[in-house]
Amino acid sequence: MTAINDDSAVNGIMQKRVLATAIPGPQSQTLHQRRTTAVSAGVGATLPIFITKAAGGIVVDVDGNQLIDFGSGIAVTSVGNSAPAVVDRITAQVKDFTHTCFMVTEYEEYVEVCEALNRLTPGTHEKRSALFNTGAEAVENAVKIARSATGRQAIAVFEHGYHGRTNLTLGMTAKNMPYKHTFGPFAPEIYRFPTSYPFHDELSGSDAAKLAISRMEKELGGSNIAAIVLEPIQGEGGFVVPAPGFMSALADYAKAQGILFIADEVQTGFCRTGNWFASEHEGIVPDLITTAKGIAGGMPLAGVTGRADIMDAIHAGGLGGTYGGNPVACAAAMGSIETMEQFDLVNRAKEIEAIMVPRLNAIAAQTGVIGEVRGRGAMIAVEVVQPGTKNPDPELTAKVAKACHAQGLVVLTAGTYGNVLRFLPPLVIPNHLLTEALAIITEQFVAATA
Ligand SMILES: *Cc1c(COP(=O)(O)O)cnc(C)c1O
Repeated sequence: MTAINDDSAVNGIMQKRVLATAIPGPQSQTLHQRRTTAVSAGVGATLPIFITKAAGGIVVDVDGNQLIDFGSGIAVTSVGNSAPAVVDRITAQVKDFTHTCFMVTEYEEYVEVCEALNRLTPGTHEKRSALFNTGAEAVENAVKIARSATGRQAIAVFEHGYHGRTNLTLGMTAKNMPYKHTFGPFAPEIYRFPTSYPFHDELSGSDAAKLAISRMEKELGGSNIAAIVLEPIQGEGGFVVPAPGFMSALADYAKAQGILFIADEVQTGFCRTGNWFASEHEGIVPDLITTAKGIAGGMPLAGVTGRADIMDAIHAGGLGGTYGGNPVACAAAMGSIETMEQFDLVNRAKEIEAIMVPRLNAIAAQTGVIGEVRGRGAMIAVEVVQPGTKNPDPELTAKVAKACHAQGLVVLTAGTYGNVLRFLPPLVIPNHLLTEALAIITEQFVAATA
């Protein structure tokens, strides 16, 4: 654990917040201007600064500002940017070869990542994996596999869910703006059901599951459902942790009906929540599990892992893609997994939770505008409400996020109502940066509500 709480340099970058200019600084503004004439306006930017280096808990911009990273590129760089084991493995791999397409001629790195996925994901049953490039692609393939293996079509998803931005996964994603607006029609045979959102529905996990299951029964009939696809903790939906028992009731129902239970662990996987996978918190063993984001230290890689009988039911050539399981991305994944094991990042995520949650609860008590502090491990969020109510306050959320950015702290928002401030620090962030970021968040909440 020595490297983790060391406040000296990581990869030559002092683990120190530095505000050299206003944010965004002049050089970022110039580049952002240039971007507007080259990059589609449809591609957003939470914080219009241009990054030149990043490591540990710090991102450095072109103006010399050093910001504390509470975003990890959306839960991707859990092992830190340019983690040494990732860089070493990538560098060696790039020198050997960069691509053959695994479907044309094979290479060991792909097999190695699949073995690691089979070993690390929940359950001791026999498993197989297939590799892709993005989370959305993994979800699409999980749906393909589930339909093919069951001979059924209907896919059950949930309110506030997020599964990606391709056409099929947009159909599975709940939120209109900015994801779905004007982009339809979406693929058929996708049905949305109530989720468990304890802060709002005030239901036990089993009652919330009963509601969803009775609707599935009435609207679809269990024998027509190929898969139930669920995020064990909703990501873009606002880090919604279902009430205990919700997932297990759905998993039991799925099993009884021959429905495949698919855990979309694209955001929650790979140590983020204080377990290798968030399904483990509830003792769930999914039939299929999708992974991406944190898997490869920043390189594009995704996987579908599942029961061998399901994964092997697909005809040869039915799964794949030109780049899926690219050797450089696979090398990065092995470096990333090695880092997670070496530095015990499962427990580091739990430490981060233990540091963050009390401080955020204190802000809630002090300001009255945080309805709930929730999440697990290093996936923690606050839901911002009008005082004394559960009504969302997206304006205040945006104001605090913007104020944090100006102070050199990268934070993201989330939630169907845009009223969730979410925190996804790299798991290797030093404690002093964690504490400093929490002080900034406190100050900005206090200032915004004064
Ligand atoms: C981000 C995310 C996706 C989509 O992943 P991409 O790599 O952006 O395609 C799918 N599911 C969940 C739960 C996610 O958080």
